[in-house]
Amino acid sequence: MNSGSEKIFCPLISKEIERIICEDVSWASEGMQPERFVPSAILEINDWKEKCMGCPKHPK
Ligand code: SF4
Repeated sequence: MNSGSEKIFCPLISKEIERIICEDVSWASEGMQPERFVPSAILEINDWKEKCMGCPKHPK
């Protein structure tokens, strides 16, 4: 089994994304990663940074 592509449900886009993408988005929302790592579907959402930071799945 390949555990490298674990998926989680992202409430921002109401879709499953790979956990590594979630981590990229999370770091970007905190300004610790360039926004070029963030999928365009997420960048289009108003206040995506605040919403991601408030998400229960956001890494602490
Ligand atoms: S932490 Fe951010 S990227 Fe990850 S699931 Fe939540 S909203 Fe989506």
